[in-house]
Amino acid sequence: MLNQSFNGGIVIPNPHPVETVEIILAPLPDKVVLPLQQRIGDEASPCVKVGDKVLTGQVIAKTQDHFCVPIHATISGKVVSIDDQIIPHKSGLKSKCITIESDGKDQWEEHKGCGSDFLHCDQATMIEYIQSSGIVGLGGAGFPAHAKLEGIQDCHTLIVNGTECEPGIMCDDALMQHHPREVIRGVEILLHICGAQRAIIAVEDDKQEALNSLLMYCHNDRISIEQIPTKYTSGAEKLLVKALLDIEIPSGGFAIDTGVVCQNVATTKAIFDAVVDNKPLVSRIVTVTGSGVESPNNYEVRLGSSFEHIVSMSNPNTNQHAVRMGGMMMGVDVETTNTPICKITNCIFVNNLEERASTQECIRCGRCNQACPVDLLPQQLYWYAKSENTDKAMDYNLADCIECRCCDYVCPSHIPLAEYFSFAKALHRKTTEDQYRTDIARERFEFREYRLERNKRERAEMMAAKKEELKKKMANDKAQKDKIAAAMARVNKTKKASDDA
Ligand code: SF4
Ligand code: SF4
Repeated sequence: MLNQSFNGGIVIPNPHPVETVEIILAPLPDKVVLPLQQRIGDEASPCVKVGDKVLTGQVIAKTQDHFCVPIHATISGKVVSIDDQIIPHKSGLKSKCITIESDGKDQWEEHKGCGSDFLHCDQATMIEYIQSSGIVGLGGAGFPAHAKLEGIQDCHTLIVNGTECEPGIMCDDALMQHHPREVIRGVEILLHICGAQRAIIAVEDDKQEALNSLLMYCHNDRISIEQIPTKYTSGAEKLLVKALLDIEIPSGGFAIDTGVVCQNVATTKAIFDAVVDNKPLVSRIVTVTGSGVESPNNYEVRLGSSFEHIVSMSNPNTNQHAVRMGGMMMGVDVETTNTPICKITNCIFVNNLEERASTQECIRCGRCNQACPVDLLPQQLYWYAKSENTDKAMDYNLADCIECRCCDYVCPSHIPLAEYFSFAKALHRKTTEDQYRTDIARERFEFREYRLERNKRERAEMMAAKKEELKKKMANDKAQKDKIAAAMARVNKTKKASDDA
């Protein structure tokens, strides 16, 4: 029995809707910039050098870290540099990247997977294809898909998340409308791998075309497609599990702890490509939207292309822009559109620069409490975060805050609540780590003191024992001497008596 609801959350209509949700195939870029540091794990080591010719799909960097995937060339051409370049991060930091200049031919390296009759393949082979094809979570998390699927036991339900993470993003809607067959076949592959009895594809109730497309290709009675209310943040894993199955994932826990595996719909399609063809992930669908572009749209674009490559296709106006990777709520601001698109770039928001409303005092209206989708009390948390009383904030479950900014959005005083919570979490982590370090240092000091004291005591006891032993020995020696003296005296006495006689 489906539950299909959770408390809180907010309804935010798409601020820049389009009439038809399309996917435009972006032209091949002149060059791609591919960062070696992935979302988690060690930096990959290049296995090509400057001047090498590469084919599309060829592995150009790898790592021994099991939680990482190899990095593939996303166009054919020549490696022109391996150096520090700006990466998509709010810090504007540079990181080591491989730059490939296109030869314009897009020549692919050969690849062959399980084929369309994939069910004869065992789970381990499928997972191997998923890792070698470089599949990570495309919904924004970037967690390697193979790591999520390995060693799964007791999985009863697979949830395929077709909800857009945030208002304005349309890439998953576009994917479901234009690639429904691959999505459904991808779900069958995932069912085979995780052994679940059933799969649910969750689609928001304002995406009727996506639902119709999926229904047309879904002929497997283990797969159902469920509509859920279009409400931010219904795409969050814990909330989706709650909404669909009425199962609470405990604080700090994961969906798999309750027998549920969740995968994003775009990741599911990429898994289909990986298992059937062993086709490396070299492109993704990205939404370009915002007040700064005239034609919001979705583009299938090669990874490593610059943001500018597709922003320019959406007709940006001439105003000054703020550029954001990801959604309007949880995305990160980036300094420049000369930033490479990576596997987690689901959306680029290009907004006209606007003045931020000034922050006022909290008027205790309680709207933030009603909006919180994970049932926290943001108003209360705010006071503790503001006064840096992070212990108290943790008592009020600050750790469960998913920083969705629903509370910010509804706050009439424009208080950046989620920023306070993010700061408070970092401060608590640091305080706890500092406290831990202090505790360790104190324990070390106390142990050293104890050790010195113990050594002193043991030495004193040893000296006392030696002294006692010496005393006993001296007493023994004296007794011996006395005995000898007495014997000598007796001998002398006997001798004298005999001499006198
Ligand atoms: S919504 Fe803003 S003003 Fe209202 S209680 Fe929450 S923090 Fe205070
Ligand atoms: S940012 Fe945190 S406290 Fe605010 S609504 Fe989201 S989960 Fe709740």
